[in-house]
Amino acid sequence: MKNPEAQQDVSVSQRIRVMFYVMKPSETSFQTLEEVPDYVRKATPFFISLMLLELVVGWIRKGKPPGGLDDALTSMSAGIVSQLPRLFYRSIELTSYVYIWENYRLISLPWDSPWTWYLTFLGVDFGYYWFHRMAHEVNIMWAGHQTHHSSEGYNLSTALRQSVLQIYTSWIFYSPLALFIPPSVYAVHLQFNLLYQFWIHTEVIDNLGPLELILNTPSHHRVHHGRNRYCIDKNFAGTLIIWDRIFGTFEAENEKVVYGLTHPINTFEPFKVQFHHLVNIWTTFWATPGFFNKFSVIFKGPGWGPGKPRLGLIEEIPEVEGKEVPFTSSASQLLKIYVLVQFTLILAFYEETFADKAVLSQVSLLLRVCFIILTLTSIGFLLDQRPKAAVLETLRCLVFLGLCRAGHLKPCFSSLSFALEIFFSICIAFWGVRSVKQLVSDPWR
Ligand SMILES: [Zn+2]
Ligand SMILES: [Zn+2]
Repeated sequence: MKNPEAQQDVSVSQRIRVMFYVMKPSETSFQTLEEVPDYVRKATPFFISLMLLELVVGWIRKGKPPGGLDDALTSMSAGIVSQLPRLFYRSIELTSYVYIWENYRLISLPWDSPWTWYLTFLGVDFGYYWFHRMAHEVNIMWAGHQTHHSSEGYNLSTALRQSVLQIYTSWIFYSPLALFIPPSVYAVHLQFNLLYQFWIHTEVIDNLGPLELILNTPSHHRVHHGRNRYCIDKNFAGTLIIWDRIFGTFEAENEKVVYGLTHPINTFEPFKVQFHHLVNIWTTFWATPGFFNKFSVIFKGPGWGPGKPRLGLIEEIPEVEGKEVPFTSSASQLLKIYVLVQFTLILAFYEETFADKAVLSQVSLLLRVCFIILTLTSIGFLLDQRPKAAVLETLRCLVFLGLCRAGHLKPCFSSLSFALEIFFSICIAFWGVRSVKQLVSDPWR
C-alpha cells in the first residue's frame, strides 16, 4: 500500500502533463481515495500562467487581449463559487460513487491494472458526454450548466466559469461505473477529464489536423460555445470527440462563431450568472397551463413550449451576423484597476482558506466563505455599475475590518491590504453618499 502522504507528491512535470491528460497509469493509480492527489486545486498556478500566456500571444497576434477583464473576472468568480462547497464536504460526485461502490458493486476491478485505468478513462468520458448532452437538453439541468455558457468571450478564463449546481445532477451519469471500478481510479479520471477541458477554451489554437478526428479540440469546443444556429446542441464531448461522431451531434467549425447564451444576460453579478435561469423556469412553470406541460417545462429542452418538439424550434434561436460585440462593463479604468486589486486579494485569500481548512474552525470557515461571496458579489455590482454598488462595497470593507478585529480573518498582506481597505473604505464612503442620493432620485435603477 502506498503512503497516504503520496497525495502531496505531484511533480511539476505531472502538473503540466495533467492539463493535457498525458499521464501514465503507473504514475496515477492509487489504492485508496485518500491517496488521490487534488490535481484540480494544484492546477491553479497553471491556470493563471496559461491565461497570461494566452494574453501575451493574443496581444502579439491581434494587438489586443483575447477578452475583457470584466468577463475574465466574472468567469474566475464563478470558478471560485463553484469550489466553495468543497470546503465543507466531499463532492456529491464522489460521495454517491463511494456509496454505490460499497453497497452495490458487482465486481471489483483491480485498482493497479492499466486495463482498469484505460477503461475508466473511456467510462468517465462517455459518462461526461451524456451528462453534458442532457445538461443542454433538460431544462432543469440547463439551469446549472448555462453558467458555463454565459460568457460572450472565448478564452481560457471561460473554462473556469463553472456552475455550483451542476454536480448535483452530473453524478447520476457516472454511477454505473461504481458497479465495477474502484473509487480511487474514478476520482483520478474525473479530475483529468475536467482539467483536459481547460486548454480547449481558446481562439489562439486554430486547427490540429488529424487530432481533430479523435480529440475534443479548441475548434470543436468553439462550436459548442456558439449561439449561431448551426452550433446549437453540438459537440458535447469532454476529451474524445468520437462520442459526438457516433451519436450524431458532431458539427465542424465553419462560419464565425458568436459566443454566449442565445438570450444574453448582460451582467457580471455572480448570483445572476449562477441562478438566473432558475427564475426563468419558475416563472415559465407557473405561466404554463396543465400538469403535463408544467412537467415538460422542467424536463424538456430550454426552448420547449406547448405544441413544440422536445428541444424547441431552431427557427426561434435569434440569428447572429458575426459582428456582435460582447457585453462590457462601463466602469472607469480606475475602478477596473480597483476591482482587479480586490479580486487578486480575494483569490489569494481563497487559496489560503483551502490550504488552512484543516486548522480553521467551522465558524471561521463559514465567515470566510461568506466574505468571499460578499466580495465577489460586490465586484459584480461594481462592474455592472449598479447604483447600490458603492453602498455594498462600503459595507464589504466595514465587514472586512470587523472580521479582522474579531480575529476571524487574517489578511495575507496584513499591512498592505489593511491600509488599502481603509483607504478605499473612505473613498467609497463618499461615493456611497453620492450614490444613495441617486438612489433616492431614481429608486428603480
Ligand atoms: Zn455545454
Ligand atoms: Zn466549455
